Amino acid sequence: MSADEHFSHLDKIFTVLSEAGITLKAEKCHLFSNEVEYLGHDVRPGRIGVNEKNLKALRRAKFPRKQTQMRSFLGMCNVYWRFVSNYTKVASPLNLLVSSKLPKHLDPPTQVKQMVFDRLRELLCNPPVLAIPRVEGHYIVDVDASYDQLGCCLLQKQPTGEYLPVGYFSKGFSASQMNYTVTELEGLGVVWTVSMLRPYIEVRKFLIRCDHKALKWRLTTTACTNNRLNRWRILLSEFDYEVEYKPGVKHAVADALSRIPTDGVDTTPIPEELPHVAVTTRSGAVLDPRRPESSGAYPVPVDELVKAQEEDSFCKKVWQELNDDQPTRFYESADGILCRRGYVVGEQQGVVPKAMQEDIMTREHSSPLAGHPGSTKMYRTLKRKYYWPSLVADVYGLVASCETCAKNRLMEKKRTTAMRLFSATEPFAAIAGDILGPLPRTPEGYEYLLVICDRLSKVTRVVFMKDITALHVLSELLDV
Ligand SMILES: [Zn+2]
Repeated sequence: MSADEHFSHLDKIFTVLSEAGITLKAEKCHLFSNEVEYLGHDVRPGRIGVNEKNLKALRRAKFPRKQTQMRSFLGMCNVYWRFVSNYTKVASPLNLLVSSKLPKHLDPPTQVKQMVFDRLRELLCNPPVLAIPRVEGHYIVDVDASYDQLGCCLLQKQPTGEYLPVGYFSKGFSASQMNYTVTELEGLGVVWTVSMLRPYIEVRKFLIRCDHKALKWRLTTTACTNNRLNRWRILLSEFDYEVEYKPGVKHAVADALSRIPTDGVDTTPIPEELPHVAVTTRSGAVLDPRRPESSGAYPVPVDELVKAQEEDSFCKKVWQELNDDQPTRFYESADGILCRRGYVVGEQQGVVPKAMQEDIMTREHSSPLAGHPGSTKMYRTLKRKYYWPSLVADVYGLVASCETCAKNRLMEKKRTTAMRLFSATEPFAAIAGDILGPLPRTPEGYEYLLVICDRLSKVTRVVFMKDITALHVLSELLDV
């Protein structure tokens, strides 16, 4: 394209934009570029390729140092072996390394082994194994987390019906994230993957596959009491996804990406918090129920809490025990709050003085955010943050005496008797009726069908109806 053509194109584009009232920021514009990154594609003259960013996890993969890592890598290659002629022969120098007779830690690779590794790696990063993302085609996100890294492979259904990878991704966990439980790590993997792959999977249905069975349940149920997972469930709720459990043995690609050491693995923190609104109480304390030791978990500021604890008879007794150096689960936090170590590892419970117990229970039960949980769920939530000796009894007592809960319980109560048949003995002694609809509305405005049937003779009458208020249904019934 000549320079004149370039300028005339630009002229046209600028005219269209200015007519539409759109302004551009100069420093964000790239003009006369031969290459552009667009929705995961590298667009160059005469060629569309996969964006190099999508392949970083594999391109930078280093020769495995342990047998487990090598086994994962070979497992990944095995998935696509049919695309490689003589695969068994090509991979045999590496297959020898995973023998149980050899030490678990691998020696530095010889030139041949390094070449085989590089070749297999390149094969995975190029067609026909690698596919270019298409507009149409269902996506599957395979995610797997190992203890320090997570791996992900984005697969898309091809016109041939098979799913091929369109990108490989990996990311290192930060030091604090490495302390998460296995379910949380897998969950974090899903959160990161989904937000990173947003351009591909937004506003379309996709499938997340992971090899952790518990995660499937925890991401899809509201009964989960883990706050972190619950927050992530809210984060993910804007996507249209399903979670499927895929056993580890078959989860080879993501598994390998989470294990193979990578050069310069990305360890920037994964944003995992919901944008949330801080709530200020009348007393001025900012509520942050996630931090039990912060004053925010209590209805009063920290100094008032400490004062209330000092005046509380139970707390006084505990302080006494602490001063006497008796072995105890209680301790003083950095803020000077009396706390207790729970029986679950890492559980830090703030000791709640009597004066504040009711306030906290009300907040955890009948506030709009709490939504009247049942006694077991409420107790589990409370004991993760708070402690007082009669906590269990108080929680069960509160829920049992809550009027709103009682009303709901009544609705759920099964008031049905055992099923029995009512035999019809004469015509029109008993009729059965049901309403069908709403159906597509007719030009005359009819939308429902009232089906009435005599139970003995089976004489049936169908009435078109515009609406199904009790009055209309009754008048039609009487009319039959
Ligand atoms: Zn209630």
